[in-house]
Amino acid sequence: MANEIIVIGSGAAGMSAASAAKSKCPEAKVTVFTEDEDVAYSPCAIPWGIEGKIPWEGLVMHTPEFYAKERGIDIHTRTTVESVDDESKTVTAGGAQYHYDSLVIATGGKVFVPPISGANLKNVFVVRTVRDGKNIQAALKDATRVVIGGAGVIGLELAVAFKEMGKEVTVVEMMDQVIPRIADRDMADVIQKDLEGRGIRFVMKAPLQSVNGQDKVESVSAAGETIPCDVVIFATGVRANLEIPKALGLDIGHLNAVIASPTMNPYRRGRLVPDIFVAGDLVQCSSAVMPGATMSQLGSTAVKQGMIAGTNAVCKDKVLFGEVASPWVSCIGDNQIAGTGLSKGLASWYGIDVAEGKAEGTTRARYYPGGLPYRVKLLADRTSHRIVGGQIVAGEGATGRIEWITMAVVCGMTAEDFLVKAETAYCPPTSMVRDPVLWAAEDLIKNLKQ
Ligand SMILES: Cc1cc2nc3c(=O)[nH]c(=O)nc-3n(C[C@H](O)[C@H](O)[C@H](O)COP(=O)(O)OP(=O)(O)OC[C@H]3O[C@@H](n4cnc5c(N)ncnc54)[C@H](O)[C@@H]3O)c2cc1C
Repeated sequence: MANEIIVIGSGAAGMSAASAAKSKCPEAKVTVFTEDEDVAYSPCAIPWGIEGKIPWEGLVMHTPEFYAKERGIDIHTRTTVESVDDESKTVTAGGAQYHYDSLVIATGGKVFVPPISGANLKNVFVVRTVRDGKNIQAALKDATRVVIGGAGVIGLELAVAFKEMGKEVTVVEMMDQVIPRIADRDMADVIQKDLEGRGIRFVMKAPLQSVNGQDKVESVSAAGETIPCDVVIFATGVRANLEIPKALGLDIGHLNAVIASPTMNPYRRGRLVPDIFVAGDLVQCSSAVMPGATMSQLGSTAVKQGMIAGTNAVCKDKVLFGEVASPWVSCIGDNQIAGTGLSKGLASWYGIDVAEGKAEGTTRARYYPGGLPYRVKLLADRTSHRIVGGQIVAGEGATGRIEWITMAVVCGMTAEDFLVKAETAYCPPTSMVRDPVLWAAEDLIKNLKQ
């Protein structure tokens, strides 16, 4: 049984690993090193933190003092792990050396900033930590015009927050639709139209070419246009943070993230490294939908992997991490948008041909007050008829419905099987007596026959 556990990283994966290790093995000495000043916070809530809807203290679930007193976990904040020596089983952090029996690497991801000029000017930000959120909030005090690079869900959540704060907001996106990788155009268009109606401007098919200014940002250039602005946010995607894994010679997959076994151990030259574990945004996952690798990079995945890594770091009886469909949901303005498994874009990346089935209804019984529009689509592989994905845009209730579709995806149900087996719960204030997802399944079966 491992007694000394070191965790690098205090995000969702790292803190879940530390807590799991300590709860499974109370006598273990668990130490966390993090570059962050805060621990155990939800980056997912940063847009609402910047807007002021949630106080910054509310985002941070527990302090290092709480972990020390209540859980017996020792956290070193603002401390970078400079190196790991897996021969002597030591990490060097803040100039001192610490021994481990098991090491959990949960160093997360880094925002990808395109290599363009001016990206380091004052008032140009990425969003990853509470500190980033606070810095953006401070810069916005004297700003009227904001440009967001990237129309993924984080970029759009921020766009709404800034608009609510009374700013002029322009979103610059290099693809020709919002939420390009994980949502289909018809679903994404609903969101874009709603945001345009709120006065948010979109410049599409326009990679950011440069950020311009003297001391601080004054404009950006994109699609031949110069867009004046006081603040720029890069919401341009996340890359696995591979500094420590690469220094240790761990195997990196073709998606440029760490390859892990179901026990969350990494490999080196194809051999499992038994006393090191990895979890969170730096890990390449196995897809539940198509054979092969995928990236999840979700808080929900990071917590699950962290718990498994922390448990296996102290226990002989191993628990396993499975495959991912990576259900996601985002609240953008008055809409919730959610998805699971493959979008049409991802399906074509895997080289498979999909049919779709769509339906529109309301989130409550038609006669019940307050019902909101609800669109749903299901995607199935044309050859096997397996449901490989689903998406929802609705005024409410998207999370539960997408989780239900996720079970169909991970269980490999065909569209026909789904329609026979699916049962829906009904109460007028929460649902229609026949949920539109069943109509979408009927439409899907019809389209699969064509
Ligand atoms: C604005 C925003 C909104 C999001 N919304 C959602 C959402 O709604 N739903 C969802 O599921 N996911 C969402 N995500 C994604 C989710 O937050 C991430 O997937 C999750 O936080 C990843 O957790 P992690 O522990 O792997 O990495 P991180 O949270 O990035 O943690 C990495 C940790 O490693 C530390 N570290 C790195 N290198 C070192 C080193 N050398 N020494 C010491 N410490 C080091 C860092 O300081 C940090 O503590 C959102 C992310 C952002 C930024």
